[in-house]
Amino acid sequence: PPLFTNTKGAVYVMSNSKSMVNAIVVWGDAISDRHFGTKDCWAIRLGDSYSAHPSSPNLYCSHVRGHNHQLLPSLCLPMIAEGETIGILHIEFNNIDDIPQPIINIAETVSQNLALSFANLKLQQELKYQSLHDPLTGLYNRRYLEESLKKELDRARRQQQFVSVIMLDVDHFKRFNDTHGHQAGDLVLNKIGAYLRAAVREYDTVCRYGGEEIVIVMPDASIENSIIRAETIRADIKAMKLEHDGKHLKSATVSIGIACFPDDGIDAEKLISAADKALYQAKEGGRDCVKRV
Ligand code: GH3
Ligand code: MG
Ligand code: MG
Repeated sequence: PPLFTNTKGAVYVMSNSKSMVNAIVVWGDAISDRHFGTKDCWAIRLGDSYSAHPSSPNLYCSHVRGHNHQLLPSLCLPMIAEGETIGILHIEFNNIDDIPQPIINIAETVSQNLALSFANLKLQQELKYQSLHDPLTGLYNRRYLEESLKKELDRARRQQQFVSVIMLDVDHFKRFNDTHGHQAGDLVLNKIGAYLRAAVREYDTVCRYGGEEIVIVMPDASIENSIIRAETIRADIKAMKLEHDGKHLKSATVSIGIACFPDDGIDAEKLISAADKALYQAKEGGRDCVKRV
C-alpha cells in the first residue's frame, strides 16, 4: 500500500504444477480470486504486463471479471526470473482514471525485484534440500542424521523419553547387484526409500546412512515398540514385488539392529554404534531378522 496508494492488490506465486497461482499476500481486500488457473490471467498468457480499464477495449482477466463489482482499472504484471514465470503482481485501482504511466513503471520494477527475490529463495531452498537429502532414495542423508539425532537426544533427556535407533542393511546386496545389475540394485534402494518414507510416523527420521544402510530414528519409541515396528518393516520389504526390465526379481531381505536411548547409549555416537553391533548380530544370526543389543 505505501508504494501503490489508493489501490488493492495481491502477489501470487505459481504452484509447483505450474497450472495455478495462489495469492500469498493481499492488500485492500482485492476482488481478484485468491487462487486461479494460469489460463485466467492475460499477463501470464502473454508474458508481459497487462492492463484493463472499463473504457478500453482490452478484456479483463477472468480472475477479476467473475465478480459483480463495478470494474475499475486493473494491472497484472508477470514476475519473471531467468525466463521462468514465478507468479504475478496484481493491482486494482480505486478510481476510474487512466493508470498513470509512472505507476506502471514502478510496478514493473517491483515485479522484477520480487521475481528475483523469489528465484533466490527457491534456489536457497533447493540447495538446502539437496545438502540434507540423498537423491536416489529421497531420504535424509548422514549429515542430517548426525545433526538431528543430537537434537533428538537432548530433547529426550529433558523430557525423559526413549529414542530408538533402527539400523537396516540390505542382505547380500553385492550379490544382488552382481546378479541383476547395478540399475536393478538402485531400484531396490529407491523402492525401500519410498516405502520407509510412507511407513514411518511424522516424527520419525529416515536417513540413508551409507550405501545400502538406512537408519531410522524413532523418538518416544520404547525398545519393545521399535522391535514390533522393525519386524513389520522387515516383513514388508521382503514382501515387496520387484520388477526390472519387465522381469520379476527375487525379493530383497534386510537385517535390522536396534538400540534404544538411554539403555544402550546416551549419546548419538554410542547409540549408532550399539545399533550397528545389533545389526552385526542379525547378520551373524542368519540375516532377514531383527536383533537388539
Ligand atoms: P551383507 O548381507 O553382509 O550386508 O552383504 P552385502 O553384499 O549387502 O554387503 P557388502 O558390504 O559386501 O556390499 C554392499 C553392496 O552394496 C556393495 C555395493 O555395490 C552395494 N551398493 C552400495 N550402494 C549402492 C547403490 O547406491 N546402488 C547399488 N546398486 N548398489 C549399492
Ligand atoms: Mg548389505
Ligand atoms: Mg552394508
